Amino acid sequence: MTETELLKRRNKLLGKAAPLFYDEPLHIVRGEGVWLFDADGKRYLDAYNNVPVVGHCNPKVVEALSRQAAQLNIHTRYLHENVVNYAERLTATFDTSLDMAFFTCTGSEANELALRIARMTTGAKGIICSNCTYHGNTAAVDELSTMFTGGRSSSPTVRTVPFPDLYRPLNGLQGDALIDAYVAEVAKAIESLKAAGVGFAGLLFCPIFANEGLPSAPPAYVQKVARLVRDAGGLLIFDEVQSGFARTGRMWGQDLVGVVPDIVTMGKPMGNGHPIGAVVSRADIVNAFRERVMYFNTFGGNPVSCAAGLAVLEVIQEERLVEHVAQVGEHTLKGLRELQQRHEVIGDVRGTGLFFGIELVLDRERKLPAGDLAKRVVNLMKDRGVLISRLGPNDNVLKVRPPLPFTTEHADQFINTLNDCLATL
Ligand code: PMP
Repeated sequence: MTETELLKRRNKLLGKAAPLFYDEPLHIVRGEGVWLFDADGKRYLDAYNNVPVVGHCNPKVVEALSRQAAQLNIHTRYLHENVVNYAERLTATFDTSLDMAFFTCTGSEANELALRIARMTTGAKGIICSNCTYHGNTAAVDELSTMFTGGRSSSPTVRTVPFPDLYRPLNGLQGDALIDAYVAEVAKAIESLKAAGVGFAGLLFCPIFANEGLPSAPPAYVQKVARLVRDAGGLLIFDEVQSGFARTGRMWGQDLVGVVPDIVTMGKPMGNGHPIGAVVSRADIVNAFRERVMYFNTFGGNPVSCAAGLAVLEVIQEERLVEHVAQVGEHTLKGLRELQQRHEVIGDVRGTGLFFGIELVLDRERKLPAGDLAKRVVNLMKDRGVLISRLGPNDNVLKVRPPLPFTTEHADQFINTLNDCLATL
């Protein structure tokens, strides 16, 4: 079947507006490690996908999944070793205070549950999130999807705060004054929720502000916000759907900012493509919630999902991916900074581990966002065999976030291709 025919059938069945990447959509039929292959056999370097965290179709994960699928798959209201083994292994990767888990199927479900837990624990309703974020697609979580609504939420129980941006700083401030100004916005939001009578239940942030365009948030900001949230009686929730599982060169984004939250949510890379998510929290919070709410998730935590999750953790450990990511990440960041010297259009390069934001601007002084150019770069990179995407409030930040087996050779191929594309455009 040609791509045109497939697209026509898809549009008829899923709707023309169902999202697709690229001006000419890709028809991918196979994946292996950091490589994807289209229907014509053309090979692409995947510098975008974070879900296949230990590489597309990782043989150890495929084997673990297949073995368990051939034996038993069932929900979690029976005893099964996999769910206990996995919960044990997963919680062991966190600070010792985060010692219990709920399993879900997606990151959205994990965030939905985290909101319920925070609201029930505190008896308050109000939630704070950033003004350019996405935490998922359920009704409650959608109230926080400010990246599609110009930074605002229509919910009376949600307040948004500006994400900490060092490239386009609030009121042109710098250093401690800038951090304090962003923290003051959080204090204002807490007061506003309290004044409205809905109370303050908690704050939900991605610790590295991934969907905001990866703005290099200073750890001091996150630390001050954590103190403020707790002093005001709220719970601190970290959405580690993007920042977790070794992505940043640390196991978790929270390790990078030096803050232990009350609740953590995760998903995407957890099962290397198999749908599994989780909420991890403290025993006092989890037990109090479980006693009041019969939370059950038919597919969450099933033996096959847990086999996949366990295999992912084992590969991360056996292949020392945390160290690998830190090392390849440093090499890539250096290469990108050199590229910035050569191309005036690169206004800012930021990143940590194997997650980079490359902000394109029309001129460096005025920092005018070059969103159209970013779109053309993403499409041309694809034509030249390298997959990336873009994000940020102005869609002008190239988003680079490859599967973690990415090596320095892959990084060089990506950088050389980006160099050629920028020169061409
Ligand atoms: N949180 C963050 C930070 C995300 O980026 C996403 C998805 N992009 C989600 C939650 C939702 O995850 P899912 O699509 O698995 O529901």
